[in-house]
Amino acid sequence: MPAEETTPAIVLRARDYSESDRIVTLLTRDCGKLGGIAKGAKSSRRRFERKLEPLSHVTLFFRRRPHGDLVFITRAEAPPAPAPILDDDLGKIALASYMAELADALTSEAVDAADAYHLLAVAFAALGRSGATTAARQAFELNLLRVAGFGLEFARCRVCADAIAAANEAVHFVVTRGGVVCPRCRAHAPEGAVRLGAANAAAMAALAGAPLELASAMAGGGTDGALALARFIASILDRRLRSTTLLDSLL
Ligand SMILES: [Zn+2]
Repeated sequence: MPAEETTPAIVLRARDYSESDRIVTLLTRDCGKLGGIAKGAKSSRRRFERKLEPLSHVTLFFRRRPHGDLVFITRAEAPPAPAPILDDDLGKIALASYMAELADALTSEAVDAADAYHLLAVAFAALGRSGATTAARQAFELNLLRVAGFGLEFARCRVCADAIAAANEAVHFVVTRGGVVCPRCRAHAPEGAVRLGAANAAAMAALAGAPLELASAMAGGGTDGALALARFIASILDRRLRSTTLLDSLL
């Protein structure tokens, strides 16, 4: 029998399977993204002290199976540090659900996901402390896109590489270039773009470079920053994220 492995993990998705089992997708610190089956999860309080519910933080114990994609989840315990409280506020639930769905969409089971795990853990902790804000959402989107290989540029023109001057009234975020172009270069980059006020472009650049735990106290990138991010994310995902509907109605 394969050895039992353990890792801190965050539950991204979970659903009941048969009468007593649960199938879960987890983002783990040490073992990438995992799909697993928890036999008897609905009845065994001893082995599943922590319920395998979406957004919950657990210490996961599992065994790999020689055949098949799903691992066998043997136990799920409370993590060593207290988990953030996310279910006392609708805005927190909506933003945390969106963060988990986006992390799921931008990671795959084949690659290391430690960076995405750490981002999600830090984002949940900050959310538990400070509540849901547009800046927290945008900082998470920018940072998660970066670790997924899509670093967006808001500080420098994607064409001439000049710093975006505060004197510019506005710049354009060009989706296919993953960044802004200055007014001078806009004529040479005629692709579809989102017009971004200079102050919002500067806020987005600051959010992209700041530690995630500081984001909720910072200025957000406004509705044009949100539109730029939404357009870019839509361009790289093959489906619309279900959690955006509720979140967009709240933030
Ligand atoms: Zn330029």
